Amino acid sequence: MVSRLIPVDPFDLVIFGGTGDLARRKILPALFRRFCAGQMSPDTQIIAAARSALDTATYRGFVTEALNEFVPNRACEEGTLAGFLAIIDYVAIDATGKDGWETLVERIQGNRVRAFYFSVGPSLFAPLAERINSYGLSTQTSRIVVEKPFGHDLTSARALNAILADNFDESQIYRIDHYLGKETVQNLMAIRFGNMLFEPLWNSQYVDHIQITVAESVGVGGRGGYYDRAGAMRDMMQNHLMQLLCLIAMEPPAKFDPDAVRDEKLKVIRALDPVQPHHIVRGQYNAAPGDEDAHPSYREAVEDPRSTTESYIALKAHISNWRWANTPFYLRTGKRLVARSSVINVMFKDAPHAIFGQEAGRHANVLSIRLQPNEGITLKVTIKEPGPGGMRLLDVPLDMSFAEALGAEGEDPPDAYERLIVDVIRGNQTLFMRGDEVEAAWGWTDPIIAGWQARGDVPKPYDSGSTGPGDAELLMKRDGRKWQGINP
Ligand code: NAP
Repeated sequence: MVSRLIPVDPFDLVIFGGTGDLARRKILPALFRRFCAGQMSPDTQIIAAARSALDTATYRGFVTEALNEFVPNRACEEGTLAGFLAIIDYVAIDATGKDGWETLVERIQGNRVRAFYFSVGPSLFAPLAERINSYGLSTQTSRIVVEKPFGHDLTSARALNAILADNFDESQIYRIDHYLGKETVQNLMAIRFGNMLFEPLWNSQYVDHIQITVAESVGVGGRGGYYDRAGAMRDMMQNHLMQLLCLIAMEPPAKFDPDAVRDEKLKVIRALDPVQPHHIVRGQYNAAPGDEDAHPSYREAVEDPRSTTESYIALKAHISNWRWANTPFYLRTGKRLVARSSVINVMFKDAPHAIFGQEAGRHANVLSIRLQPNEGITLKVTIKEPGPGGMRLLDVPLDMSFAEALGAEGEDPPDAYERLIVDVIRGNQTLFMRGDEVEAAWGWTDPIIAGWQARGDVPKPYDSGSTGPGDAELLMKRDGRKWQGINP
């Protein structure tokens, strides 16, 4: 199936941090793919900005290398790369000083859409917002895209929101959470609110519990310094997992409109109960046995033999509202786990009465929403085992893989950044976090972190390549439940 492509009008995009890792791996490849697909006009202008003194030709060489590495399979015509490079420019600029700003002002003229992508460390978000405004670059058509992390806690998130609000209207601020750009995440809303089938069952009467797993097989890698100050709670739970929880649990918005959707998500966060300390498991990974050099322990990776930061967290959350009373949400995320896998499992209750007798066994439906890898949705249903020999039951998947259903042959499905950048240009904030949402999420996680600090909590060790600490299994077992497997 070929998706309908609606071109976007020419625009100006400034990527602050244009020489950084995120620009190289995600932003530039996403822009190139949209250019390849014919969605971006050749009149568009992309200006990369960073402190390094590069000329445009050198920067275009950097872009070419990045695209060769991260977009090796190209479905576009030869010559498209040259066309893409032609719309790219570079300006050396200091986010904290005066250098380069006048040049940037000269390069951006007219009143078409102009987007400023803050792909720099969080300490530069405020200085950038202030300078964009003070140099007169903020117009009615300007918007800013702010990367994660958005704050370190509620106080810092509030302070950052206040500085952004001094310089921009909330309608101009796009706080990015790339999980929301995934095809499956939007399909989750389509499945819930576009079908009659699921919504009547989407409540505590029919859903036993919900599991959200975001497992990574990699360790902290080169991000050790940042990660050790953050941990899994701040790096993953407060943003990505909370966002997924909101989309799964929210009430149907009156319309698919940015504020209507975000109002409903906010209500979910506000309805979350504080988490009991015995409903949380923190973990920290050990080195891979026999492969310690390639895969060192967490403490070695962050170069702090006494670090008590968690690289894994599992918790049980409750949403105190009519729909979800008594349906727990189990959330877990961690590094150096057995596989890279992000899945939401909606675990339905058993049938109320087993008419097929003991030997048929117990069977319950599971709706699995896979975010990565292989985005798709599977519904596990129970059928009769084929053949003679009585009524034995079997669970089989009804599978809908988006790569097969929606992707053109030989092409990767669109990356989340492609969709999100196009949404920024179109002015659609539905898949971006609003300031009050981010603050509410910190309001829920801050007391949990404060509790660990007060108690001097130390994470449980777990083996690299495992499913996490054994206590996470116990968290489920105590409730008579079990985690679904972490499968690649
Ligand atoms: P990075 O590789 O360290 O790149 C930082 C960029 O900022 C470089 O281009 C650097 O270039 C520029 N920069 C630093 N100081 C500057 C200044 N004073 N003025 C202007 N430019 C300056 O970082 P990154 O990994 O790309 O991450 C960027 C942001 O995205 C961070 O907020 C990060 O948390 C977030 N993020 C990254 C990833 C990822 O996969 N990398 C994923 C999610 C979120 P110069 O040194 O030449 O100035």
